[in-house]
Amino acid sequence: MDRNEEGALETEAAVVGGGLVALATAHALARAGLQVARIAPAPAPRPPGEALDARVYALSPGNVAFLRSLGAWRRVRTERVAPVHAMRIYGDDARTCLAFDAWEAGVEALAWIAEEAEVAAALRADLAPPVAGACLEVQFGAEAAQLRLDRGASLRARLVVGADGARSRVREAAGIAFCEQPYGQAALVANFECARPHRNVAYQWFRGDSVLALLPLPGDRVSMVWSLPESEAARLAALAPQPLCGEVRRASGAALGALVALAPPQCYPLRRARAARTVGPRVALAGDAAHVIHPLAGQGANLGLQDARALGEVLGAREPLRDPGDVRLLRRYERARAEDVLAMDALVHGLARLFAAQGAPIAALRNAGLALLDRLSVVKNLLARRAMA
Ligand SMILES: Cc1cc2nc3c(=O)[nH]c(=O)nc-3n(C[C@H](O)[C@H](O)[C@H](O)COP(=O)(O)OP(=O)(O)OC[C@H]3O[C@@H](n4cnc5c(N)ncnc54)[C@H](O)[C@@H]3O)c2cc1C
Repeated sequence: MDRNEEGALETEAAVVGGGLVALATAHALARAGLQVARIAPAPAPRPPGEALDARVYALSPGNVAFLRSLGAWRRVRTERVAPVHAMRIYGDDARTCLAFDAWEAGVEALAWIAEEAEVAAALRADLAPPVAGACLEVQFGAEAAQLRLDRGASLRARLVVGADGARSRVREAAGIAFCEQPYGQAALVANFECARPHRNVAYQWFRGDSVLALLPLPGDRVSMVWSLPESEAARLAALAPQPLCGEVRRASGAALGALVALAPPQCYPLRRARAARTVGPRVALAGDAAHVIHPLAGQGANLGLQDARALGEVLGAREPLRDPGDVRLLRRYERARAEDVLAMDALVHGLARLFAAQGAPIAALRNAGLALLDRLSVVKNLLARRAMA
């Protein structure tokens, strides 16, 4: 990193954020030949020993290939990762089932379930430590952006990437509007031990106004993401471990037998949000800073990793001497991502609305749709391919 005459740090690209998206972006930009400075808080301490992180992601094969190309996936310990060999998605009645199988799709796994902390540590291993823990303010100028950092530090960068989550300070400083829409739902997240082996099947139940997912973890353990109306989520979050296990077992039709909670559940309010633009002069947004979607398809972090991939590709293909903060160049990234983000948001939002709608006729219609989809192999393959990108 260089210092200018006033002693301030100077770099080509500054990546703000400490999550998977920021870490992958820092790798992708370095691979594109840019000098990169990271601004990220210290990572949270990991749970001791064999205990699993509550934040668990279903990573698409496309993103696992991306992480592999960055050299990070080989650092993820195999015993901390579970491949998903099949998915079973149930409608309001147990007879309606949409099935996806890895062998049918001709892939090794439909997704890989991994803890955020494990993947983040793997990504951090080959990156230089952050230059600061927080970005307090950004001023965008014609020649460079000026970042005010914690502990009185400052940094000049030609490009600032805001991968700093839904409450992005970079987005705010760039004056980019963020349109938010609460779902009136919250997601309850917890890990369980299960009495019956999961056989690497990911289960999902769309029932009335809730969506329950049980994702396979290494060993006889599963990760739960249960999206529910806020009041119901709060009621379940307040239950003692045993009654909570009973509720999850009932809602899952006892598919995995008796459950034992491995830690108290965590509760996340759910919303849909979208930045009006994902780029501007000297700024690009990635991950939740640019778009937040319902977690029912487990695609939020996947979209963010695809952003990192696309931004790296655009900057890697830039003409020699081209300013990385040039908005005309950055628009190539915005265009490259627009369709995928829009399509995934529309699909996930449509499903969330369809299954939140009450009444017997709607339930019958959506179950018929699910059963029909299971028989339409072309549409089913298209859906699977999009989720695996
Ligand atoms: C219940 C639930 C389950 C989910 N399951 C899945 C799943 O299975 N698969 C999937 O793909 N997605 C899933 N998602 C979505 C996923 O969690 C998000 O899309 C993803 O975490 C977004 O990553 P991010 O790095 O953009 O943002 P974040 O994870 O929010 O990270 C933002 C980072 O920026 C840092 N930061 C913020 N402000 C500053 C600042 N001023 N200076 C420096 N750093 C800053 C924060 O500390 C943090 O490190 C789920 C979401 C929920 C709510």
